[in-house]
Amino acid sequence: MTRPAVVLVLIAASAGLAGDKPAEKARTFEGKVVALASLLKADGVEQDNDASAGLALQCDKGEVYPLVKNDGSRMFFLDKSLQSRTVRLTGRLTAGSMLDVTAARSVVKGKEHVLYYWCDNCALAYSQPGVCLCCGGKVKLVEAEAKPGAAKLELLLPKDE
Ligand SMILES: [Zn+2]
Repeated sequence: MTRPAVVLVLIAASAGLAGDKPAEKARTFEGKVVALASLLKADGVEQDNDASAGLALQCDKGEVYPLVKNDGSRMFFLDKSLQSRTVRLTGRLTAGSMLDVTAARSVVKGKEHVLYYWCDNCALAYSQPGVCLCCGGKVKLVEAEAKPGAAKLELLLPKDE
């Protein structure tokens, strides 16, 4: 008599899912990635020297979304050249107003560009700055105009510098 028990568990699981509040949908936000510390400073708020070096997306209309630091946003933490310039971040708002980034593009002269890192020697694409897994060379930022229908690049995770 194990079967009825399994069915009951399944019903309970699906009832639980239906009862949860629906996850926030992914949206695209345009703005600039800036250090949270600079926003606090601009507001005259002091914070401890050992406070975490967080980043936030500051949108043109003034909304500020602190970034969750993970695969989707890590390039902004590692590459300061990507900060303080217009980007479009796609992601979901979580924990109130934090942005969980799933895709990042830059905007250059009004045109959307894909961002990735590249090793010339090995022709390998990476999701963040670092050292090529194959030749050990430093990978460099590539900004290429986004083409509709272009194949999505498979991005590797480089070694730490
Ligand atoms: Zn390489």
